[in-house]
Amino acid sequence: MPQIERRKAVTVNIGGVRVGSDAPVVVQSMTNTDTADIESTVQQIAALARAGSEMVRITVNNDAAAAAVPYIRDGIAAKGWNTPIIGDFHYNGHLLLAKYPACAEALAKYRINPGNVSIGRKDDDNFRTMVEVAVKHQKPVRIGVNWGSLDQALLTKMMDENSRSAQPLEARDVMLETMVRSALDNAAAAERYGLRRDQIILSAKVSNVRDLIDVYSELARRCDYALHLGLTEAGMGMKGIVASTAGLAPLLLAGIGDTIRVSLTPTPGGDRSEEVRCGQQILQALNIRSFMPQVTSCPGCGRTTSTYFQMLAEQVQSYLVEQMPEWKKQYPGVEEMKLAVMGCIVNGPGESKHANIGISLPGTFEEPKAPVYIDGKLAVTLKGDGIVDEFKVILDDYVKSHYGKAVVEELVTA
Ligand code: SF4
Repeated sequence: MPQIERRKAVTVNIGGVRVGSDAPVVVQSMTNTDTADIESTVQQIAALARAGSEMVRITVNNDAAAAAVPYIRDGIAAKGWNTPIIGDFHYNGHLLLAKYPACAEALAKYRINPGNVSIGRKDDDNFRTMVEVAVKHQKPVRIGVNWGSLDQALLTKMMDENSRSAQPLEARDVMLETMVRSALDNAAAAERYGLRRDQIILSAKVSNVRDLIDVYSELARRCDYALHLGLTEAGMGMKGIVASTAGLAPLLLAGIGDTIRVSLTPTPGGDRSEEVRCGQQILQALNIRSFMPQVTSCPGCGRTTSTYFQMLAEQVQSYLVEQMPEWKKQYPGVEEMKLAVMGCIVNGPGESKHANIGISLPGTFEEPKAPVYIDGKLAVTLKGDGIVDEFKVILDDYVKSHYGKAVVEELVTA
């Protein structure tokens, strides 16, 4: 598989996590708890970290939230996580960061929205205050432009200039150019106020896929700051997953993007960690990074009328999700493992042979037995009611015998 050539970007260190072209593309997420509710926020950050989020952003929107931040940082450390916490600020970040130095110190990065930090003002003193706090505490910032809160004064100015030009652009193009200008102008201002280039990350989020591709392509072309990619307000369920994938994939394949966040709307009471797994799957499907063993399963068809094979595929997938937090610590490399769960003998044995472990279930008219292939060779044929459990045992044995430090040491000394 040819390597993707990453766009050259300055690398930023965010609480020990490196973001830039000489570091792997980082997956991050954001909580949806009330930040002032320390216990719930700590629980959710730990769940996101356990799912693999390498940084977690929390909203810091009022005094109670700002006061809670150091306790949240300590709470997740007490649970054994050192995941960097990023503060998301709008409107009053300059006030909160100045008033709560312990919050400013506890956060690993500040997100500044240039569209609303200095709203209604003719100067950029509020933006400058936030940058000066970042300089004082030596914290990186993300200048996060969002089309829903774009700097209206800049947009109006650029629309006016456009209307006077001999060949005016379409309104959409002016809006995208305003986003790029807002990000770049504010980054330049942040450098004037004392931040280094390796302390600045940029984003320019929109909710339309083609706008996203265009705005990030232009931003990437015009600077070497590290870029945070994400389709804003991607939506719920399948729509959000498909739109995020459609937007992020062409950019990532072009080497654009140093950290990603997938902004899925969870169902009420749903699992916030879905956005982490979705980001990981996007990177893994593009062969950019591996996070989790991949299960190839066929869609099923009229040859497999029982639901047994869907059930097995689902149980294997759930088992992997359950085991991975421990497996990835004990058995590094396991994330590269490939499994196949196939519905019948048409493609089953063939697909199974290309996987590390493959199982081909009996189709409707086939003998009630399920051949299991390990590293391309028929290893055993399972029958009866215990197929799922027996397959999990085979999976465990394979992981223990093929991955991890002990296996690597054995190979080196052999
Ligand atoms: S492998 Fe068999 S069950 Fe699965 S889609 Fe192909 S023919 Fe149908």
